[in-house]
Amino acid sequence: MTPRWKRDTPVTEQRETRLLVAGRDPHANHGIVNPPVYHASTIVYPTLAALEEADRTPYQGTRYGRRGTPTTFALEDAVAELEGGFRSIAVPSGLAAITTCLLALLKSGDHLLVADTVYGPTRRFCDAILRDLGIRTDYFDPLADVTPLITERTRCVFVESPGSLTFEVQDIAAIAAAAHAAGAVVVMDNTWSAGLLFQPFVHGVDISIQAATKYIVGHSDVMLGLITTTEAAFLTVKRCSSLLGTAAGPDDCYLALRGLRTLATRLAHHERTALALVDWLGGQSMVSAVLHPSLPSCPGHDIWRRDFRGCNGLLSIVLEPRPHEAVAAMLDGMRLFAMGYSWGGYESLIVPFDPRPVRTASRWEHSGPCLRLHAGLEHVDDLITDLAAGLKRYAAC
Ligand SMILES: *Cc1c(COP(=O)(O)O)cnc(C)c1O
Repeated sequence: MTPRWKRDTPVTEQRETRLLVAGRDPHANHGIVNPPVYHASTIVYPTLAALEEADRTPYQGTRYGRRGTPTTFALEDAVAELEGGFRSIAVPSGLAAITTCLLALLKSGDHLLVADTVYGPTRRFCDAILRDLGIRTDYFDPLADVTPLITERTRCVFVESPGSLTFEVQDIAAIAAAAHAAGAVVVMDNTWSAGLLFQPFVHGVDISIQAATKYIVGHSDVMLGLITTTEAAFLTVKRCSSLLGTAAGPDDCYLALRGLRTLATRLAHHERTALALVDWLGGQSMVSAVLHPSLPSCPGHDIWRRDFRGCNGLLSIVLEPRPHEAVAAMLDGMRLFAMGYSWGGYESLIVPFDPRPVRTASRWEHSGPCLRLHAGLEHVDDLITDLAAGLKRYAAC
């Protein structure tokens, strides 16, 4: 099975450029730059022989609408290129990407290891659905050596680096080596890096998922997930996703493909602004800690420097302890930072969070309220003005 994109003849090694050419062929499309949106349920066959031939290659080309249309395939090709994997599978959300992989890999009696700092709903899926299926999950400190936790039943190690909300950076290559030595598969939630800042397959990951909802789409208007795998892992995941019946809509795939073209440019701007905010917030008296992988105080900072090409627009802060009304005064009055979940769009966001209920294997040393910020594409001076006024309201309570 050959991937549809031509990995053997890349135009260049520069990934920014490859992102612009992947998954499209204007001359096969009337010269039109972007691939069209194909809507389909029924796909018809001209002859019985053609129908039977399609049965022999179930995961190639159009077959039935649920299996995707050329719009889906164009996005999958481009994301496989971005992540550096064999092939990608589009599913209707980032969470669907995670749950599809875990259901594909695990069966009753199996053991799963999950980094303590994963995205909250990943944890809830393991603790509810997988537990009921007879699959045991243990959480591990993201900085710890996983070797002693691996048992003969361990089939999968699930990592996310940097960790959700608090950004601890994991040594993915070391985890992959330990997992592979025991015959386990490594699944990585690679949403933070958007596929650009970290190359999962170079570090031994078998399956990389992304919530394309975040930076790939980039405009806060689409839910979409992508699963990218090695050649060895592809069929297991593809078969499961196909049988679960979760199909990404073609309009959403089109928007993700469009977002992909400006991903590198947007991400560089998000990074610049986030770094400026990290710097500024570090000097504010109401801020007791800034959590960001670029800071030497971040657990795993050296690994981030070794393995990552940069950072995105996310950062978190811990405030000096103050009553809850102070947090409300700060957040209710923000003018540019909107309060809402998700991230990766063009707009700045801020949400309160508490890591304590969602951490069981690592310690949380701070006592003040925590805020997770997403630096959007606004002018950085305007964002600093908004935050300065907010911290003033916080201090006044
Ligand atoms: C948002 C997010 C997801 C889930 O993606 P949805 O598209 O919202 O389902 C998964 N992992 C991480 C790290 C996320 O931030």
